[in-house]
Amino acid sequence: MSAMKKKHIVIVEDDLDISRLLTLELQETGFEASAFATGISGLCAIRETEPDLVILDLGLPDISGAEIARRVRKTSEIPILILTAADDVSTKVEMLNVGADDYLAKPFHIEELVARVNVQLRKRGVGAVRKIGSMTLDAVRRQVFWDDEEVRLSPREFALLTYLCNQPGRVYSREEIEANVWGESLPPSSNVVDVHIANIRGKLRDAGGFGIIRTVRGVGYAVKG
Ligand code: CA
Repeated sequence: MSAMKKKHIVIVEDDLDISRLLTLELQETGFEASAFATGISGLCAIRETEPDLVILDLGLPDISGAEIARRVRKTSEIPILILTAADDVSTKVEMLNVGADDYLAKPFHIEELVARVNVQLRKRGVGAVRKIGSMTLDAVRRQVFWDDEEVRLSPREFALLTYLCNQPGRVYSREEIEANVWGESLPPSSNVVDVHIANIRGKLRDAGGFGIIRTVRGVGYAVKG
């Protein structure tokens, strides 16, 4: 198992004092942080590096933070946090309208900013709770829900479903599933993975969930992405 990859945050801020402070603080908190001083360079970096979260200053020398948010939102659902000098209702409404997830008025406390970054990352399934379509997976409580109905899985079934949900859309081979969920290779004749998949599907179906796990013949299984 490789070490957990650091979450990458892109900061677009033309005030170099703020941008340096943010970069250092986020790095010390355990994030990878890169700062850009213009809207265009920030937008390019966001497109190229696909960060886990973006912090945007509203007033930039070229294009505004709101415009960047609008453009990013056309193709991406990454969390966007906007920094603004104005703290009023119309600014708030505008920020939400352009697709920002949260905003913070300057001057702000760096601890509050870090806390809000963490909230956004948790919401997007970086933390314990993941949502895939109608299905919710809570890794801490080890519960699965389809809409509001709990789906009771055995510990192994839960581990298997969680593993497939690591990357929705990616096809996991039987060998990968055995190595990561059972921790060993099972005999080639074993159909234990298939049996567990069938059981999970059955339990999801009882809760109204259909078609979330896809069989890719001759390859393995995937959760719909
Ligand atoms: Ca500025």
